[in-house]
Amino acid sequence: MTVQKKVILQALEDAGRTHPTADTIYSLAKKRLPHISMGTVYRNLSDMSARGEIIRIPVTDGPDRFDMEISRHDHAVCRVCGRLFDLPPGVVYIPDGCMPRECRLLDTHLLLQCICAACEERTPADI
Ligand SMILES: [Zn+2]
Ligand SMILES: [Zn+2]
Repeated sequence: MTVQKKVILQALEDAGRTHPTADTIYSLAKKRLPHISMGTVYRNLSDMSARGEIIRIPVTDGPDRFDMEISRHDHAVCRVCGRLFDLPPGVVYIPDGCMPRECRLLDTHLLLQCICAACEERTPADI
Protein backbone atom coordinates (compact mmCIF):
# COMPACT_ATOMS: atom_id res chain seq x y z
CA MET A 1 0.00 0.00 0.00
CA THR A 2 1.36 3.45 -0.86
CA VAL A 3 1.94 6.03 1.87
CA GLN A 4 -0.68 8.25 0.20
CA LYS A 5 -3.32 5.54 0.23
CA LYS A 6 -2.58 4.74 3.86
CA VAL A 7 -2.96 8.40 4.81
CA ILE A 8 -6.26 8.64 2.90
CA LEU A 9 -7.61 5.62 4.74
CA GLN A 10 -6.54 7.19 8.04
CA ALA A 11 -8.26 10.41 7.01
CA LEU A 12 -11.47 8.47 6.36
CA GLU A 13 -11.13 6.98 9.82
CA ASP A 14 -10.50 10.42 11.33
CA ALA A 15 -13.75 11.60 9.76
CA GLY A 16 -15.65 8.99 11.75
CA ARG A 17 -19.13 8.20 10.50
CA THR A 18 -19.62 11.56 8.76
CA HIS A 19 -19.32 10.29 5.16
CA PRO A 20 -16.81 13.02 4.23
CA THR A 21 -16.41 14.72 0.85
CA ALA A 22 -13.16 14.48 -1.08
CA ASP A 23 -12.32 18.02 0.10
CA THR A 24 -12.73 17.05 3.75
CA ILE A 25 -10.63 13.94 3.21
CA TYR A 26 -7.99 16.08 1.54
CA SER A 27 -7.76 18.49 4.47
CA LEU A 28 -7.62 15.63 6.98
CA ALA A 29 -4.97 13.82 4.91
CA LYS A 30 -2.92 17.04 4.69
CA LYS A 31 -2.62 17.11 8.47
CA ARG A 32 -0.85 13.77 8.33
CA LEU A 33 1.02 14.25 5.06
CA PRO A 34 1.37 17.99 4.36
CA HIS A 35 2.63 17.55 0.78
CA ILE A 36 -0.16 15.33 -0.45
CA SER A 37 -1.92 16.88 -3.45
CA MET A 38 -5.62 17.24 -4.14
CA GLY A 39 -5.14 15.27 -7.37
CA THR A 40 -3.59 12.35 -5.50
CA VAL A 41 -6.47 12.28 -3.04
CA TYR A 42 -9.08 12.37 -5.83
CA ARG A 43 -7.29 9.71 -7.87
CA ASN A 44 -6.93 7.38 -4.90
CA LEU A 45 -10.56 7.83 -3.88
CA SER A 46 -11.65 6.99 -7.43
CA ASP A 47 -9.43 3.91 -7.61
CA MET A 48 -10.46 2.71 -4.17
CA SER A 49 -14.17 3.09 -4.88
CA ALA A 50 -13.79 1.41 -8.29
CA ARG A 51 -12.18 -1.53 -6.52
CA GLY A 52 -14.88 -1.64 -3.86
CA GLU A 53 -12.52 -0.82 -1.00
CA ILE A 54 -14.64 2.19 -0.10
CA ILE A 55 -18.07 3.37 -1.22
CA ARG A 56 -18.72 6.52 -3.23
CA ILE A 57 -22.14 8.01 -2.52
CA PRO A 58 -23.40 10.47 -5.12
CA VAL A 59 -25.56 13.16 -3.55
CA THR A 60 -27.90 15.50 -5.41
CA ASP A 61 -26.86 19.15 -5.08
CA GLY A 62 -23.49 18.40 -3.58
CA PRO A 63 -20.16 16.69 -3.97
CA ASP A 64 -19.90 12.91 -3.73
CA ARG A 65 -19.43 11.49 -0.26
CA PHE A 66 -17.23 8.60 0.77
CA ASP A 67 -17.77 5.76 3.21
CA MET A 68 -15.22 3.26 4.44
CA GLU A 69 -17.98 1.02 5.78
CA ILE A 70 -18.45 -1.23 2.78
CA SER A 71 -20.93 -3.67 4.25
CA ARG A 72 -24.35 -3.37 2.63
CA HIS A 73 -26.27 -0.39 4.05
CA ASP A 74 -28.35 2.55 2.91
CA HIS A 75 -28.26 6.24 3.76
CA ALA A 76 -30.50 9.15 4.62
CA VAL A 77 -29.35 12.68 3.83
CA CYS A 78 -30.55 15.79 5.63
CA ARG A 79 -31.95 18.14 3.01
CA VAL A 80 -30.90 21.19 5.00
CA CYS A 81 -27.38 20.55 6.29
CA GLY A 82 -26.37 17.62 4.09
CA ARG A 83 -25.44 15.35 6.98
CA LEU A 84 -25.50 11.75 5.88
CA PHE A 85 -26.81 9.07 8.21
CA ASP A 86 -26.34 5.30 8.06
CA LEU A 87 -29.43 3.16 7.79
CA PRO A 88 -29.54 -0.54 8.47
CA PRO A 89 -29.70 -2.76 5.38
CA GLY A 90 -33.08 -3.77 4.02
CA VAL A 91 -35.15 -0.80 5.21
CA VAL A 92 -36.89 -0.75 1.87
CA TYR A 93 -37.94 -4.02 0.35
CA ILE A 94 -37.45 -4.32 -3.40
CA PRO A 95 -39.75 -7.06 -4.60
CA ASP A 96 -38.57 -9.61 -7.15
CA GLY A 97 -39.80 -8.86 -10.60
CA CYS A 98 -40.12 -5.10 -10.12
CA MET A 99 -37.52 -4.45 -12.79
CA PRO A 100 -38.46 -4.07 -16.45
CA ARG A 101 -37.93 -7.39 -18.22
CA GLU A 102 -35.01 -6.11 -20.28
CA CYS A 103 -33.08 -4.94 -17.20
CA ARG A 104 -31.20 -6.77 -14.51
CA LEU A 105 -30.99 -5.26 -11.05
CA LEU A 106 -27.37 -4.69 -10.03
CA ASP A 107 -27.48 -2.57 -6.92
CA THR A 108 -30.05 -0.98 -4.66
CA HIS A 109 -28.24 1.70 -2.76
CA LEU A 110 -30.89 4.05 -1.40
CA LEU A 111 -30.51 7.67 -0.40
CA LEU A 112 -33.54 8.75 1.58
CA GLN A 113 -34.21 12.44 2.15
CA CYS A 114 -34.73 13.56 5.72
CA ILE A 115 -34.36 16.53 8.01
CA CYS A 116 -32.19 16.00 11.05
CA ALA A 117 -33.28 17.01 14.55
CA ALA A 118 -30.75 19.84 14.73
CA CYS A 119 -32.06 21.43 11.51
CA GLU A 120 -35.68 20.91 12.41
CA GLU A 121 -35.14 22.90 15.58
CA ARG A 122 -33.92 25.98 13.76
CA THR A 123 -35.76 25.94 10.42
CA PRO A 124 -39.37 26.70 9.58
CA ALA A 125 -41.48 23.64 8.90
CA ASP A 126 -42.06 24.46 5.22
CA ILE A 127 -39.17 22.49 3.74
ZN1 LIG B 1 -29.61 18.71 9.14
ZN1 LIG C 1 -22.65 4.78 5.36
